[in-house]
Amino acid sequence: MSADLITRRFRLPDLIDIGKPVWVFDQHGHIQEGDPLQNMGSKWTYRSGLSALAQRMADGLDVRLETPISHLQQRVAGWNLFDGSGQLISDFAQVLITIPASQTVDLIEASQIANGQKKSICALLRLASYNPLISVMLGYHPTPQPRPYYALVNTDKAHAISWLAWEHEKAPERVPEHAGLLLAQMSPHYSREHWQAPNDVVISEVANLVAALLGEPLTTPVFTDTYHWRHALPVEKANAQLLNALTLPLGLAFCGDAFVGGRVHLALENGAAVALQLISR
Ligand SMILES: Cc1cc2nc3c(=O)[nH]c(=O)nc-3n(C[C@H](O)[C@H](O)[C@H](O)COP(=O)(O)OP(=O)(O)OC[C@H]3O[C@@H](n4cnc5c(N)ncnc54)[C@H](O)[C@@H]3O)c2cc1C
Repeated sequence: MSADLITRRFRLPDLIDIGKPVWVFDQHGHIQEGDPLQNMGSKWTYRSGLSALAQRMADGLDVRLETPISHLQQRVAGWNLFDGSGQLISDFAQVLITIPASQTVDLIEASQIANGQKKSICALLRLASYNPLISVMLGYHPTPQPRPYYALVNTDKAHAISWLAWEHEKAPERVPEHAGLLLAQMSPHYSREHWQAPNDVVISEVANLVAALLGEPLTTPVFTDTYHWRHALPVEKANAQLLNALTLPLGLAFCGDAFVGGRVHLALENGAAVALQLISR
């Protein structure tokens, strides 16, 4: 059902199934073929990038961008939503909260909710926890040598690099012409240790780690970037059923990867299911 939302309901012409497989490596940098069974499954992505899915889902909806909600206020029937400057955004009959659970705790704590429900809601949300992750983009010219895989995953979780992808293998449109792009997702341990480190230090360290892992004399990257994801992937999940049983009568519900694990299609499926529960009340 969850893949159907991506391959059918929200299908886009630039949805592609990545042809090459994922291979694995261990803490010593030993690379070998990945699980053939797992590699038989589809590996979906979008030529133009993953935001294509969000844009497709937003078709025909009134979506306000750049509008972080700082708190909610419960009304007799419904909810007021406020931005960071305390400005009322609008009132709504029902609210479905999809932000990472750790941030939801802050949102709920700052909100006005009747009958001492806040404490129980926050206690259930706190069951979820996330690992941080630093993403490092390394652009090369010329393109790194072709390989029989499009990505490597560290299976013993003891290497500084968790995941390394050859973005130009997913689709050439994802990188400037004649360039190659390696995207390294760093381990939770490395990310925590380097959270405050200057970007140029992280980039040069990760470029060296990548070259050592591949045993390939890569040139100095010609374009680079980093992104720090504080709430990257959930490690402990919260129980959506318990939480929503408590809040659905208030016209409030929660969904997202904190309840189902860090996968786009699972978060999407969970969101659709909880939204149905909310509107069918
Ligand atoms: C580096 C990285 C790589 C990943 N790779 C994959 C992959 O290859 N395949 C896969 O299936 N999954 C992958 N994931 C996991 C996947 O991205 C998430 O599990 C999924 O996006 C979760 O969806 P969500 O709707 O629960 O939350 P999110 O996608 O986190 O969406 C929450 C949204 O809420 C917004 N928001 C936050 N606070 C507020 C506020 N106060 N007011 C208003 N808006 C707010 C945020 O800006 C964000 O847009 C990856 C995650 C990371 C970090």
